Amino acid sequence: VLNGAAILIVGAGFYGATLAERIATKLGRRVLVIDKRPHIGGNAYTEPDPTTGVEIHRYGPHLFHTSNEEVWRYLRNFTDFSAYRHRAFSTHRDQVYPLPINLATICQFFGRRFSPDEARAMIAEQSSELGDRLPSNLEEKAISLVGRRLYEAFIKGYTAKQWQTDPRELPAQVITRLPVRYNFEDGYFNDRFQGQPLDGYTAIFEKMLAHDLIETRLGVDFFDIRNLLPEGVPVVYTGPIDRYFDYAEGELGWRTIDIELEIMDTPDYQGTSIMNYADEAVPYTRVLEFRHFNPERQHTSGKTLIGREFSRFARRVDEPYYPIDTRRDQATYGRYVARMGREKNIHFGGRLGTYRYLDMHQAIGSALKAFETVFEPYFEGRLDSVSRNAGATG
Ligand code: FAD
Ligand code: UDP
Repeated sequence: VLNGAAILIVGAGFYGATLAERIATKLGRRVLVIDKRPHIGGNAYTEPDPTTGVEIHRYGPHLFHTSNEEVWRYLRNFTDFSAYRHRAFSTHRDQVYPLPINLATICQFFGRRFSPDEARAMIAEQSSELGDRLPSNLEEKAISLVGRRLYEAFIKGYTAKQWQTDPRELPAQVITRLPVRYNFEDGYFNDRFQGQPLDGYTAIFEKMLAHDLIETRLGVDFFDIRNLLPEGVPVVYTGPIDRYFDYAEGELGWRTIDIELEIMDTPDYQGTSIMNYADEAVPYTRVLEFRHFNPERQHTSGKTLIGREFSRFARRVDEPYYPIDTRRDQATYGRYVARMGREKNIHFGGRLGTYRYLDMHQAIGSALKAFETVFEPYFEGRLDSVSRNAGATG
């Protein structure tokens, strides 16, 4: 099965591809990468749409951003980046506001001019309903950040559509992904390094996996070949952790997204790449217009491709996108971590393997770290197993 490979990597997403590339390039070992999908790239996979020529992000919009210089330097071995800096907007009651919530959003929403100090004082007043209590869930955290009125306009309805879970059951950190700014800075991310890969995301994976010592087999499910593996061969598993243990400790909760694609007969449908819809009356969470992720490209078809995003609970057959991570999920995951610790020579990593909402730069960063702390020592004979996994070590 292994065809001479010294290690099997399950999953050709950023976690698996980074480890495969490092092990082949730095350690000169043969690597077999499998993925059950018919393509490489995991959820970051992109491809050209045949009608419009626009690059589609098949599993949802991907925007690269990081402040981790090591990750930035590493990725630039495989791609150049455009100057794209993401800006987002939210439609609420037929008005368009800039996101993340910043001074322009505040002035527009309350219908008057605020200085940064005035806006801070007004929001502090509105968020004082929590008293001395530390926010312990998404709703409390959001109110502590922006006060109840902005919470109800921009966060409550969107979050209800996105999670269909009581916001008091959701972890506070979900909302801290969205910065709040008391100035007119309207870039979506604060990170130092940002941009879109010039030739698309899939081209990055093609380069990463192009090494002579890496063999990639697509359309292969780990669970179909698991019993054929020789004893003791090291395995990296980046699939869902509950599936690995045959759901023995129960299922972990995930959200999935359905993207309804439509070609519109105009070169520009909404003037921006992502328009969020804050109100519950609109059934989708946001509308993507893919061409705007690549303003540096010539799009000459006269048409544009859009996607409406609908969020729902994932069943076993669906693509797991967002870990819901309620308290119950956290307890279930804890029991899987205990099981991981008892497995021999298998390393669990990535978003699905550690049940964490990792951005791309975090998936790459954690793979680079695992390479240094686990795989390099293992192949140099200083460690007897690759089992130390990202899930257990954080
Ligand atoms: P994945 O990319 O999920 O790769 C895992 C791979 O394992 C998959 O290809 C899967 O097919 C394979 N696999 C699973 N089970 C098996 C099996 N049994 N046998 C064989 N193969 C298997 N990050 C950002 O930085 N910016 C963004 O804007 C952004 N937007 C996102 C939007 C959406 C809708 C989603 C879902 C994610 C977004 N991300 C974003 C996160 C990004 O997708 C992840 O950080 C990245 O994909 C993680 O890489 P990974 O290798 O851990 O997992
Ligand atoms: N969110 C919101 N309103 C918005 C955008 C985001 O309430 O207009 C909340 C929502 O709960 C979401 C979280 O902030 O899950 C994180 O948003 P982000 O844009 O990071 O979501 P992603 O890109 O991961 O879908």
